[in-house]
Amino acid sequence: MAAQTILQKLEILADAAKYDASCASSGTAKKNSLGGKGIGSTEGMGICHAYAPDGRCISLLKILLTNHCVFDCHYCVNRKSSNVARARFTPQEVVDLTLAFYRRNYIEGLFLSSGIVKNSNHTMEQIVEVARILREEHDFRGYIHLKTIPEADAEIVHQAGLYADRVSINVELPTDSGLTRLAPDKDARQIEGAMGKVKSDLVEAKDARKRFKHAPRFAPAGQSTQMIVGADAATDADIVGKASRLYDNFRLRRVYYSAFSPIPDASAVLPLKRPPLIREHRLYQSDWLMRFYGYKPSDVMQATEADGNLPLDIDPKLAWALKFREAFPVDVNRASKEQLLRVPGLGVKAVGKILASRRHRALRLDDVALLTQSITKVRPFICTVDWRPITLTDRADLRSLLAPKAEQLELFAA
Ligand code: SF4
Repeated sequence: MAAQTILQKLEILADAAKYDASCASSGTAKKNSLGGKGIGSTEGMGICHAYAPDGRCISLLKILLTNHCVFDCHYCVNRKSSNVARARFTPQEVVDLTLAFYRRNYIEGLFLSSGIVKNSNHTMEQIVEVARILREEHDFRGYIHLKTIPEADAEIVHQAGLYADRVSINVELPTDSGLTRLAPDKDARQIEGAMGKVKSDLVEAKDARKRFKHAPRFAPAGQSTQMIVGADAATDADIVGKASRLYDNFRLRRVYYSAFSPIPDASAVLPLKRPPLIREHRLYQSDWLMRFYGYKPSDVMQATEADGNLPLDIDPKLAWALKFREAFPVDVNRASKEQLLRVPGLGVKAVGKILASRRHRALRLDDVALLTQSITKVRPFICTVDWRPITLTDRADLRSLLAPKAEQLELFAA
């Protein structure tokens, strides 16, 4: 067989990496090459592939080192039993591509993952070698996110953290039974053990840098993980519960949710249909509520429907408010920050502005309307000096009044 060109390998290995959603490069230390030192920067704009939580668009070269794999995870296009074209980069080839793309301003960094070749340690060493060459031989200061392999020795994973801005280990599925069924070579205890080790490395490195200015940095953008949604029977309540435990136990920066998408040459044990993409969106919204709005996982679970899933037609914050109407209306001029954050339609920024403005004067409904995209959504849940919803909060048809209207798609829309 003729040797593959770099372009052919890139085509295969960039396509094979597209199923991994966990690549937003948020929260890293700022580095740049101003003053002619080094190459690359974690700041700036380019081709967009991922979004940070602050809305910033990040461009990353997102590839696999190889899509050969000795594991057989049913949901993965790269599993050993999958009949797909295979390719493999050398570490030097990935380095050359990263630098070439960077110099052309196509990317701001590298997201590198891999199938497992030979064994976990060998693969992890190759991944680390890419980052080492970039950092040590080229003084590359762009963003590097390395996907780490939980079965690899802790010392090699530690090396990855010394070069990368972020490391991640995918938990893959929300329940242990789902993992056993769909990823028979993986072990939930091993995955969480590896995440626990990364967490202690992060804590140690932070402490060391407080004491010694030149102590080595370790994954300054922290660790993240990804869960596949809709490949097994796990409900949104299961997923939210798992995400919350992961945040608490491993101090994760992010949990990414990736709606399962049918893959070429799919295994027969997988569902034939993908879950609606809006389900992934509702999970991100609930994640946001837990991280920034003070909701406990139990609050989000209370917003689920009888089948354990979040409603698709309304967001989880509105779903919670409709179930717990006795908590409303809240008086915008007196309510605590926590109470205001529960009002559907009021974001963290709007609540901050309300708290600041009401120190100077009593707020009217028009004042609140200036802070929200939809005062219709807010009105049933608040009082102001000139507004009281009276019976609106308790109306039986409030959900249908507030749910976004279904839109007729245009037949000839571009
Ligand atoms: S170990 Fe990773 S690359 Fe290999 S089959 Fe499983 S998910 Fe796919």
